[in-house]
Amino acid sequence: MAAVKSNGNTSTELKLIAIFRRLRIAGWRRRQKLIGQPDFVFRRERIALFVDGCFWHGCRKHLRLPETNRSYWLKKISANVQRDVKTTRLLRQQGWITLRLWEHDLVEFERVARKLKRILDRE
Ligand SMILES: [Zn+2]
Repeated sequence: MAAVKSNGNTSTELKLIAIFRRLRIAGWRRRQKLIGQPDFVFRRERIALFVDGCFWHGCRKHLRLPETNRSYWLKKISANVQRDVKTTRLLRQQGWITLRLWEHDLVEFERVARKLKRILDRE
């Protein structure tokens, strides 16, 4: 199943980093130890940012199940979706703001980055 293996949205993360740089958004860290392993963490502001892959997180627009083992993949992906909900809840209970982006949505990247910028500039 090489086609659906994921190395964690690297190209998507790089696009987001480019937007951060352009908007002069600083203070983020990657690969921090935190519930759910967010893609980006703003520790001081307690903001966890996830970039969800369309396949692994069950995007309604782009999820195309492989022809074989469909029930296996469906089960796996729905478990991921449930875990995402749980992760968001646990983080919120610990005072974190959780932002989630779909890897397909660059327009949304820009919007969320600007929102982040406003939050960070208030500090
Ligand atoms: Zn998608």
